[in-house]
Amino acid sequence: MSHRGKRCFGQHFLHEKAVLHHIIAAINPKTSEHFVEIGPGLGALTALLLPLAQSVDAIEIDRDLIPELINRCQNLGTLRVHAQDVLQFDFSALDIMPLRVVGNLPYNISTPLLFYLISYIDLIQDMHFMLQLEVAERIVASPGSKTYGRLSVMLQYFCEAELLFTVGPGAFTPPPKVDSAIVRLIPRLQEKRQLCDVAKLSEVVRLAFGQRRKTISNSLKKIISNESLLAIGIDPKLRPEQLSVAEFVQIAKN
Ligand code: SAM
Repeated sequence: MSHRGKRCFGQHFLHEKAVLHHIIAAINPKTSEHFVEIGPGLGALTALLLPLAQSVDAIEIDRDLIPELINRCQNLGTLRVHAQDVLQFDFSALDIMPLRVVGNLPYNISTPLLFYLISYIDLIQDMHFMLQLEVAERIVASPGSKTYGRLSVMLQYFCEAELLFTVGPGAFTPPPKVDSAIVRLIPRLQEKRQLCDVAKLSEVVRLAFGQRRKTISNSLKKIISNESLLAIGIDPKLRPEQLSVAEFVQIAKN
């Protein structure tokens, strides 16, 4: 392989075949589905996905990789490469919905990218991502755990989240310094979500976890009184990590 992996683009290319096949089995692609791959790189996943899905839209920021990607994938199916920053990509401009979004994500942008994808959540059927294990654990964390925080509440509000399996650094070239994990995110249908103003929910969660060690009475005093918390059945003396997603939604609705 001639590409050594640019750090600025979080490039760690998957080479271990067993891991690649495990990911594809978890995704279980069908020909009628519309796949979008984020960061195809040199096509390790793309080349396995294309023969099963028949067509893939791939978003890759590093133009230096694209000739090799196209070369590797020719005759495997229809590959539409979008040479741009995924954080600027308009997912709503794609023709067939819903989207199945996959990718071995660049870890340096994974959290902002997950929040960006939330803005398109109703166009998405599901997402399968390779992430830093630490980020994956935060996404799926339950109330009461140390890793439960803003990312857990916001993603679990929109999606069912499951950590499928972990992957060691040796599966990548160059190896990252951390362990990784595959996460499956399935958006909850809009009518099944406890509807609330998402900007308000985001603000409540930001304020609450901004001061993790303080009680919510303290950190949320600008937006909700102790009386109002008690009226919706929430103890003001709790710390943010003790509140369920549904309780944050209750506060945001107040
Ligand atoms: N999918 C390949 C694999 O598994 O071997 C490469 C994965 S590598 C971890 C992340 C890929 O995302 C790289 O190809 C990198 O160039 C690309 N990338 C990084 N930042 C990006 C961005 N903002 N928008 C689109 N692609 C990006």
